Amino acid sequence: MAESVKPLFSVQGLTKYYGDMIGCRDVSFDLWPGEVMGIVGESGSGKSTLLNCISAQLEPSEGTVSYESGQFGNIDVHRSEEPIRRKLRRTEWGIVHQNPRDGLRLGVSAGANIGERLMSIGARHYGNIRRNALEWLGEVEIDASRIDHLPKTFSGGMQQRLQIACNLVTEPRLVFMDEPTGGLDVSVQARLLDLLRNLVSRLGLSVIIVTHDLAVARLLAHRLMVMRRGEVVETGLTDQVLDDPQHEYTQLLVSSILQV
Ligand code: ADP
Ligand code: MG
Repeated sequence: MAESVKPLFSVQGLTKYYGDMIGCRDVSFDLWPGEVMGIVGESGSGKSTLLNCISAQLEPSEGTVSYESGQFGNIDVHRSEEPIRRKLRRTEWGIVHQNPRDGLRLGVSAGANIGERLMSIGARHYGNIRRNALEWLGEVEIDASRIDHLPKTFSGGMQQRLQIACNLVTEPRLVFMDEPTGGLDVSVQARLLDLLRNLVSRLGLSVIIVTHDLAVARLLAHRLMVMRRGEVVETGLTDQVLDDPQHEYTQLLVSSILQV
């Protein structure tokens, strides 16, 4: 790798307590541009806590997260001003929640959900916004005729695809996803995964994806971090970790004894 390439994120000693309960403990890693990092582990292992700390949705108890911003240079995410974090969330980052309710306004039209994101980064021309929204509905395989419909009339899979469109229309360089296929039927999941994989590779996105589903991790992630009780027990290239797990816990996870 060329010397000038810097990690997009550098996470050092990240720890989060909830009272005296541990959310995650002493997590360190770098995320490189264009990399898809999977965070896997059982329910309650600290995956969402870690993701929310990295994406500045949650304050860690200890540790630092530095981010190489396109606009602000290298910043210490948790010591930066809230307006800067807000700007990062609108422009350089996307956040796809497990529940589309947390990422969409279900009571305003699909087109307006996408349009609001564009307006938040300064778009003002109605015709351009509408055209861009239509283009992104197409990208996520939602029929153009649904543009003025409310997402609350959409299926779960369609809502999730709309949430993805809303998060990609602003051309972020990095997308955080927390169990993006978690609430969906298996057949719907497979289609969404395929769509995600194509978008991520075509747009060259960097991604941090949390999933308890190793099949999802296998399909999307280049590298995995395996968490147990808040700590990272193993990290490595996805195929290495899944085909030749080193840690006893990962071996159990892979042999599906711990999977539900
Ligand atoms: P995962 O996403 O892997 O299921 P979480 O990060 O949600 O795990 O949770 C990690 C641990 O932190 C669990 O023991 C969970 O009960 C605890 N936890 C998560 N959120 C909170 C909270 N808001 N208050 C107290 N404990 C929490
Ligand atoms: Mg979670």
